[in-house]
Amino acid sequence: MRLLLIGPPGAGKGTQALRLAAQLSIQHISAGDLFREHIDQGTELGRNARTHMRAGLLVPDEVTIGVIEERLARPDTTRGFLLDGFPRNLVQAEALDGILADSESRLDAVLDLEISEAEVVRRIAGRRLCRRDREHIFHVGHSPPEVSGVCDVCGGVLYQRDDDREATVRQRLEVHRSLTAPVVDRYRAQGLVTTISALGHVQEVLDRALVAIGQGQADASGASSC
Ligand code: ADP
Repeated sequence: MRLLLIGPPGAGKGTQALRLAAQLSIQHISAGDLFREHIDQGTELGRNARTHMRAGLLVPDEVTIGVIEERLARPDTTRGFLLDGFPRNLVQAEALDGILADSESRLDAVLDLEISEAEVVRRIAGRRLCRRDREHIFHVGHSPPEVSGVCDVCGGVLYQRDDDREATVRQRLEVHRSLTAPVVDRYRAQGLVTTISALGHVQEVLDRALVAIGQGQADASGASSC
């Protein structure tokens, strides 16, 4: 299965993508995580990406498309993938079409996570990630770790992403509104999009997502196909 997960920053894409990919036995590919790996490794690409990320802007398309194309070419994606945070503009969407056409494959579905901007700002201000494994995500308000500042899963130190400051979050929201919303419209015109509410417990959102892609129980509320 080949899926896209789209939604504004703070909608919970990373959290849901991880769980969905595990449940469906497909690869989770996060553009943001790929950039953060480069930043951690101190590569030139990472330094370039960091400048844009810190400003809440998109990393240039040629860099982003190259990173994703290389990742999708690895053999572990043959069973399928869940792309989280790509494509974020129409140029990237067209590039993805080309990559898929080259491998004679196509997307099965696009999940669009819906959330208000006020809720995004509230969520992101409290978000904390684990230094050892940034897939371990907490929130100081609604899912705090047992010991403040320490990851429940592996004991790693928790930190706040440097693009999670409020001014940067507002810029990221603007990028989503102006550049990424048209991508959703494009896939909607192809009949691929289901919009689901990103509100509620992690498991509730996951249940909605599974229903939306035909892999869950039909009693999860909050999904609307379009
Ligand atoms: P969020 O969805 O919460 O903004 P991500 O980790 O997906 O978090 O993205 C963080 C940042 O990484 C973005 O603000 C942007 O700077 C960069 N980024 C992620 N995906 C892309 C993409 N497809 N194109 C360009 N830049 C991207």
